[in-house]
Amino acid sequence: VLEIIDGSPYQKGMIRPMIDVDSELWWAGLADGQLLLPRCMHCERFWFPPAPACPACGACHFTWIPASGRGSLYSWVVVRRSLDARFDADIPYTVTAVDLEEGPRLFGRLLEGYPAAGLALDAVVYLVSGSPLLGFRPAA
Ligand SMILES: [Zn+2]
Repeated sequence: VLEIIDGSPYQKGMIRPMIDVDSELWWAGLADGQLLLPRCMHCERFWFPPAPACPACGACHFTWIPASGRGSLYSWVVVRRSLDARFDADIPYTVTAVDLEEGPRLFGRLLEGYPAAGLALDAVVYLVSGSPLLGFRPAA
């Protein structure tokens, strides 16, 4: 289970996620501190984002598995000019692409520390205006 923290020191702006039938379980898991990943029951691969079938083999039978939250920093961008006025108060902030140890690459803000390729990270859930968001911090 991931730590759930107050996001107000890290993020002021918010654009509510568009939750659909494929992602609603993922968002519900995040609200409970779980980083759920769909895992194919045929080829056993994990994938992200949620989709109705395995992108590797096309099988439609999958189960949701809580990921460890551990990963390594694949790439990042430091946002210094907001692309939406709702994020004006947040700049500069860092958006990361993180390779989870289960395989999928996810995106989220780097909440603490400085980015470096391969940096070991832990996922964390942070709440902004009551909504859970996925973020990352350097591994303890
Ligand atoms: Zn598969």
